Amino acid sequence: MAIPSLKQWQRNILFAFHNDCSPSCNTPRARTLLASHIIQKHIHMDTGTHIKGPTIVWFRKSLRLHDNPTLQRAVQLASELFPLFILDPYYINPDKIGFQRFRFMLECMKDLDHSLRKYQSKLLVIYGEPVNVLENCCKTWKCSYLCFEKDSDIYSRNRDEKVLQRMKGLGVQCFVESGHTLYDLDMLVAKLNGNSPPTQMTSFLKFIEQIGPPPKPIETVRNIPPLRKELLSSISISKVPEIEEIPGYELITEPTPCPFQGGESKALERMQQALNREQGKWIVRFSKPHTSPVSLDPPSTTVLSPYIKCGALSVRLFFWELKRVEDSFSVKTKPPVSLIGQLYWREHFYLLGYTIPHFDQIQGNPLCKTIPWEHRQEWFQAWEQAQTGYPFIDAAMTQLKQWGWLHHLTRHVVACFLTRGDLWISWEKGKETFEKYLIDGDWSINAANWMWLSCSAFFTRYFRVYSPIAFPKKYDPHGNYIRYFLPVLRNMPNKYIYEPWKAPLKVQKEVNCILGKDYPLPIVDHEEMKKRNIQKMIQVFQNKS
Ligand SMILES: Cc1cc2nc3c(=O)[nH]c(=O)nc-3n(C[C@H](O)[C@H](O)[C@H](O)COP(=O)(O)OP(=O)(O)OC[C@H]3O[C@@H](n4cnc5c(N)ncnc54)[C@H](O)[C@@H]3O)c2cc1C
Repeated sequence: MAIPSLKQWQRNILFAFHNDCSPSCNTPRARTLLASHIIQKHIHMDTGTHIKGPTIVWFRKSLRLHDNPTLQRAVQLASELFPLFILDPYYINPDKIGFQRFRFMLECMKDLDHSLRKYQSKLLVIYGEPVNVLENCCKTWKCSYLCFEKDSDIYSRNRDEKVLQRMKGLGVQCFVESGHTLYDLDMLVAKLNGNSPPTQMTSFLKFIEQIGPPPKPIETVRNIPPLRKELLSSISISKVPEIEEIPGYELITEPTPCPFQGGESKALERMQQALNREQGKWIVRFSKPHTSPVSLDPPSTTVLSPYIKCGALSVRLFFWELKRVEDSFSVKTKPPVSLIGQLYWREHFYLLGYTIPHFDQIQGNPLCKTIPWEHRQEWFQAWEQAQTGYPFIDAAMTQLKQWGWLHHLTRHVVACFLTRGDLWISWEKGKETFEKYLIDGDWSINAANWMWLSCSAFFTRYFRVYSPIAFPKKYDPHGNYIRYFLPVLRNMPNKYIYEPWKAPLKVQKEVNCILGKDYPLPIVDHEEMKKRNIQKMIQVFQNKS
């Protein structure tokens, strides 16, 4: 396929708005608006009394037809349905969203578009600032209704608030449905009865036990109305673009092919494979702490996170499918280590992200300990660019960029290394790097886990520091994981694979890897940094800041 130039791509779009869309969600007023859930005031929860009218279903996440309450609502309301995806310039920035993450999302959009086309419809993709795009679309298509899914991160909530205000002015009624979490987050907030959300998993599990199981998934939407002819055949509204067509990404070449392809169909296939693994025994024996960080083919966990993140897989469907398998066995692992337990971790962090102010940062975040991190740019760069001289850390950071996914324990090791373990650099910096490169990059989960690993919240055993040598060696004594991601060390003898600086020069020459030239010397002495940082942590915890 010929790749259109940047100009062609821009010409092909119907509305291109370049107004300033910088999020004002950091202002105290915006925070207050969010905290008071003002969104609730403008939305309609029942369609009983509504006459059918032209309806936009605005896809952001929930890139699927199965268990999609927003799409179902839109179909109920629509005399005519406009499935819309807005490429928001706030996100379209290779410094913010890396190649693999963006590619994965475009694949999810393509798959959704493919499904819609079976109903003589398609995904209408428009580039621009969402509030303005929606206003123009509503005016052009004379829409009565706008439906979208509830989002919980700060930027989205602030954006949605602006959308609701603008739609109110236009007389367009909005319907906001829950669909990205097991439970409606506002329902969970109401169940807190004004109390703070639980911050420990054990209390969260007790909390949801009182509420009961999450709602069952709804039927896959199958009665999508056809799109009006001129839009279906229109080339003035872009098709789902190729990544090379997106301004800013056109010059980036894919680091290496990522083994995970986006889309609802891939998500359902992958979920099914997990459910069928060892006739369900794999599911009921799953215990997260016992999974291996270095298994690559297949990975030792489901790798469903990127699909759940984009909403290509409904988390409720996954939950109930796991439950179905679990119910057919008498012996099974339990939350928090079981697979259902993993979904509860997610739910827990979503609830915290929804209710704790400034959850994604240190300042103003009541959960987060203030630790006097120090920024050393050259150390940070070495970490981010896989140049620390510690092969396991560098292999992991290479995997992050090439695949956009890491096993949970690998995330632990690199996060600990950057923060309290070795480099004493703020978790906020690590969180940004993960957000950019992870194909499952998720606002609430990422922030929560970074706080956890840096002992800034949830976890206090700061004396437990991951060794970048001894820890991975337990799983992979021959260093195959390192050899896979760091070809420069491919021929290093087992004895030196985790500590190549100890290899005699003769060995280094034999394997064509001279330390300090072909592969870096360690940027810090792990044992020394660990001791020093534990002392700093003792100070922090004694001060109880
Ligand atoms: C520093 C750090 C940053 C992280 N950032 C993210 C992120 O941005 N997005 C993200 O989805 N996960 C994040 N995690 C959590 C976890 O590592 C991934 O969810 C998991 O590795 C995804 O792989 P999987 O789908 O095979 O997980 P599985 O073990 O198969 O679990 C199934 C699902 O449960 C959820 N889940 C699993 N572990 C966790 C967890 N600890 N917290 C919350 N939900 C969980 C995910 O949706 C996952 O797909 C982070 C962990 C750390 C330590």
